[in-house]
Amino acid sequence: ADWISVKEARQAESVATDREVRGWVRTRRDSKGGFSFIELNDGSSLGNLQVIAPAELANYENEIQKLTAGCSVIVRGELKESPAKGQATELHADEIRVLGWADSETYPLQKKRHSFEKLREWAHLRTRTNTLGAVMRVRDQISQSIHGFFRENRFLYVHTPIITASDCEGAGEMFRVTTLDLDRLAASGGPVNYSHDFFDKPTYLTVSGQLEGETYATSLGRIYTFGPTFRAENSNTSRHLAEFWMVEPEAAFFDLADNMDLAERFLKYVFSETLNHCQEDMEFFDKMIEKGKLEQVKAVIEKPFEHMTYTDAIKILESCNEKFEYEIQWGSDLQAEHERYLTEKHVGGPLILTDYPSSIKPFYMRLSDDEKTVAAMDVLVPGVGEIIGGSQREERLEVLQKRMAAQSLPEEDYWWYVDLRRYGTVPHAGFGLGLERAVQYITGMNNIRDVIPFPRTPGHAEF
Ligand code: ATP
Ligand code: MG
Ligand code: MG
Ligand code: MG
Repeated sequence: ADWISVKEARQAESVATDREVRGWVRTRRDSKGGFSFIELNDGSSLGNLQVIAPAELANYENEIQKLTAGCSVIVRGELKESPAKGQATELHADEIRVLGWADSETYPLQKKRHSFEKLREWAHLRTRTNTLGAVMRVRDQISQSIHGFFRENRFLYVHTPIITASDCEGAGEMFRVTTLDLDRLAASGGPVNYSHDFFDKPTYLTVSGQLEGETYATSLGRIYTFGPTFRAENSNTSRHLAEFWMVEPEAAFFDLADNMDLAERFLKYVFSETLNHCQEDMEFFDKMIEKGKLEQVKAVIEKPFEHMTYTDAIKILESCNEKFEYEIQWGSDLQAEHERYLTEKHVGGPLILTDYPSSIKPFYMRLSDDEKTVAAMDVLVPGVGEIIGGSQREERLEVLQKRMAAQSLPEEDYWWYVDLRRYGTVPHAGFGLGLERAVQYITGMNNIRDVIPFPRTPGHAEF
C-alpha cells in the first residue's frame, strides 16, 4: 500500500494527482455548491487535511453525507493548492472508502470541548484530540532526543531490571511482586510465603535503575537506562504517578560539577530538538495551554542555569514573604511550593540546587567534608519544580559502609554494590530525569496524568 501522511500532504511542495491519505474524520460540512468539506487527521500532525468531496462520488449521498467525527476513511484524489487560509493544500477526492463508522450518538469526542479530567475516562480515544495528540508527539520527540543526546555523548544504553530486590531510594514506596498462583494457594488455605515462594527473596518493581546502572558505569564508563519506574506514592498530586518513565545516566570519573554540566547540556539539547522538530505542536501549546512558553523555553536554552546551595535556598525561603503551606527549615525536604517559589519568583528560570542535608537523601550520595551534607543536585524548573534528581555517588568503601550501617541497610543485600568500591573504585555520578516532568514542563500541561498514555495513580488503573 502506498499512501502519504496528513502531515506530508499538508506540506507538499508540488501538487499531484492520485494521492492517497488514510485517517479519521474530525468534521464534515456540506456546502450548497454540491460538495462536502471533510477535515481529516491521522495523528501525524496537529493540523487536519481538508478533503473536498464532490457530489459526483458514487457513495456521496449514502455514505459521504453520513460521515461524522471518528469515522475512518481512505481518500484518493488530487492534491491541489488551497485557496483557503491556514492551509497550503487540499485533497480533491476521486474516491472515498469508508472503513469504520462511528455512531455519533455514542462517540465521546464530538465537537463539544471536554475537560482534561473528563478525557481521562477515554484514555483509549483521547489522543484523537488536538491537545493529547500534540502531547504524545512531543513525548515521542523528547524520548528520541534523549537517545540522541546520549549516543552523541558516548553513553551506552543499558536495560536495568524491572523486578529487583533492592529499595534504591529507601523510601519504602515499592510495589511487591508476587504470582497469581500464590494468591490461589492462599485462597485455598495453603501455606504461602509471599516474599519467598517464587524468587529466593522478596522482590519489588523497581523505583530506580541507579544501583544496577552504577555497576555498568563502573565497567562500561558511561551508560544510561531509560524505562518504566514504579512508586507506590500515596500522594495525589499533579506531578506524581505510580508508574512513570525515568532516564538515568551514570558516568564513571564524573564529579558533581561534571554531573551538573551534563544535566544542563542534556536538558538544553532535548528542549531545543523539541522546538526544532515539533514547531506546530509547540506553537499550539504556547497559544492554548501556557502563553509565553516558547519564549521561556528559548531563554532556558540560551542562558546558563543558576546554581545555589540548599542552605542558601533555605535562607531565602525563610526570609521571604510568601505564605507556604508547609513550613521550611534547614533539614526538611523542599515541597513543590518551595521549589516553584525559588524558580518562578526568585530566579525566574531553572535552578540547580546542591549540597542537601545527608539526612534527607539516600545512602549512596557522596558525603561532603562537613559530614552534614551530600554532593546532591536537583534541577528545578518553573511550573513543575523538581525535574531531575542526581548526585555524585559515595565511592569510598568505609564511608559507604558506615552510611549503610547508620541506615540499617544489611550489607549482605548490597554486597554486589559494595564490591564496586572494593575493586577499582572511581568517583562517579549520575541523575534521574522524570520523562513526564519534562513533557509537563515543555508543554505547560498542568497535570502529569495528561502527559502519559495510561496514567496510574492511587485508585486509578482502569485498563
Ligand atoms: P519528588 O520530590 O517530586 O517526589 P523525588 O525526589 O522523590 O521527586 P527522585 O527519587 O529524585 O524523585 O527521582 C528522580 C526524578 O524522577 C525526579 O526528579 C522526578 O523528575 C521523577 N519522579 C520521581 N517520582 C515521580 C513520580 N511519582 N511520578 C513521576 N515522576 C517522578
Ligand atoms: Mg518523591
Ligand atoms: Mg524530591
Ligand atoms: Mg529527588
